[in-house]
Amino acid sequence: MRTIDKIYIDGQFVTPHGQELFDLFNPATEEKIGQVRLGDAVDAKAAVAAAKHAFPAYSRTSKAERIALLRRLHDAVAARSDALAAAMTQEYGAPQSFVNFSATHAANLFLDMAETIEAFEFTQTVGGAKVTLQPMGVVAAISPWNSNIGSICSKLATALAAGCTFVIKPSEMSAIQTQVLAEALHEAGVPPGVFNIVNGRGDVVGAELTSHPDVAKVTFTGSTAVGRSIMRAAADTMKRVTLELGGKGANIILPDADIDAAVSTVIGVGFLNSGQACIAGTRILAPRSRLPLILDRLKTAVAALKVGESTDPAVNVGPMVSQKQWDRVQNYIRVGIEEGAQVLIGGEGRPAGLDRGWFVQPTIFTGVNNTMRIAREEIFGPVLCVIPYDDEDEAIAIANDSPYGLQAYVESADPRHAHRVAEQLEFGRVVINGAPHAPLAPFGGFKQSGIGREYGRYGLEAHLEVRAILG
Ligand code: NAD
Repeated sequence: MRTIDKIYIDGQFVTPHGQELFDLFNPATEEKIGQVRLGDAVDAKAAVAAAKHAFPAYSRTSKAERIALLRRLHDAVAARSDALAAAMTQEYGAPQSFVNFSATHAANLFLDMAETIEAFEFTQTVGGAKVTLQPMGVVAAISPWNSNIGSICSKLATALAAGCTFVIKPSEMSAIQTQVLAEALHEAGVPPGVFNIVNGRGDVVGAELTSHPDVAKVTFTGSTAVGRSIMRAAADTMKRVTLELGGKGANIILPDADIDAAVSTVIGVGFLNSGQACIAGTRILAPRSRLPLILDRLKTAVAALKVGESTDPAVNVGPMVSQKQWDRVQNYIRVGIEEGAQVLIGGEGRPAGLDRGWFVQPTIFTGVNNTMRIAREEIFGPVLCVIPYDDEDEAIAIANDSPYGLQAYVESADPRHAHRVAEQLEFGRVVINGAPHAPLAPFGGFKQSGIGREYGRYGLEAHLEVRAILG
C-alpha cells in the first residue's frame, strides 16, 4: 500500500490543506494499492502564488540558463526511468511497449525542448520594428491518466523553455507515477516556485486553476467535454488556452496497399495503449474490392493478440484503467450490436481465462456506417470499426466526416499516392504506413480535437506574448 500525502509547492513537498482521500487501484487485479490525499482550492491558490512569485526572476533567465536547466531535468528523469516504468505498470497496466516508450520519451522531452530554444530567436525584426517574444506568465497545466508522465514532462518542458512558471494538476488516478516523477524533478535543482504539482479533483483544483486571475495560460489534455468547460472558464480573464482533446482517427487502407503490412499497422495503431489513446486509429476504412481479404487478416491478427497483466512483456493489450472505463467500453460494445453492426471478433465481457481485472476483449465491428455512434464517438478502449468504401473520394469524405480531427493514418504501397490523400484529410497529423513518432513535429487537433499545437516550436510560441517596439 502506497500513501501519497504530499504535494509539491515552492520547491518543497508539503502536506495539502485538502483532506479528501482517493483510492488507487491496480487495474489488472482490481486490488487497492494506495491512497492519495487530494489538494483543494487553497492548495491551488498557494501553488499559483508560488509560481507568480518565481516568475519575474525565472522569466529573465537567459537561453543558456534554461537549456542547462532542461538538460538537468532530462538527466534526473532519465535516472528514474525504471521506477517510472514500474509505477506505470502497476498503477495503469499499460503494455510494456508503451511503458518503455513513455519512460524514455518523458526524459527526452526536456532535451528536445532545449534543442528547440537553441535555434529559436526570442528577439526578431519585422518591418523595422523590434519584436520581442515574452514568456506569458504563470501556466496552469491539467493532464489525463492515459499519458501521465508524458503529458507532465511535455507541458513542463515547453513552459520552462519559454520562461514561464508552472502549476500542474495531474490526473488524480495517476498519483503514484506523479510522485516518482516529482521526486526526480525535485532533484534537478529547479528554483523554488518555478514548477508546482497539486494532486486534486478536476472540479476543485482544476476549476480553481482555470479561473484564477493570476494564471495567464491553461494547457489542457483530456476529453472534449472538459475542454469545453475549461475554455468557458478561461474566457472571463482571457487566458490563453491550448487544448489537446479527444479523437476518432480514420485509418485509410488504399486499394494499392500491401494488405499484410497494412493490417499489422492498423492493429498496432488501433489497439495502441490498450485502445486508451487519443491518437488511436479506430475507424478502419477498407476498399470494398479487398474487404473479404482485409477482414480475414484482421480476424487472424486480433485472435493472436495477448490480453493480460502487463508485467508479462508478451502482452499486447492490458486492462482498462478503472471499473468506470471498463463499464463505458462494455456499453459501447452493446451500443454497436444494438445499432446493427456485426462483431467480427471480440464482444462483450472479459476475455476467456481472465476472471478479474478490467480487461476487455479486443473487438472489431463490421457492417458499420459512419453515422453510427460507435463510428462517431470516442470509445477509448480496444474497439475498432471497419467501414467499407467504393472510391478514394468517398474514403476521404468518410474520414473527414467526424467532429474530431486529431490523427489519421494512410496505408499505401505508393508514398506519393498516400501524400495526395493525406493532404486532403482534416486532421492535425497524418501518419503514412506507420511512420515513426516525430516529437518535434506539430501535434494537435482540427475541429473538436482541440485548439493550438503542443510542444516543439509551435507549442513554444503558444507560451509567448509578442511585443513590437517601433521607432
Ligand atoms: P478528462 O477530461 O476526464 O480529465 C482530464 C483532466 O481534467 C483530469 O486531470 C481531470 O481531473 C481534469 N478535470 C476534470 N474536470 C475538470 C474541470 N471541470 N476543470 C478542470 N479540470 C478538470 O479526461 P481523462 O479521462 O483523464 O482522459 C481521457 C481523455 O483525454 C480522452 O478523451 C482522450 O482522447 C484525451 N486525451 C487527449 C490527448 C491529446 O493530446 N489530444 C492525449 C491524451 C488524452
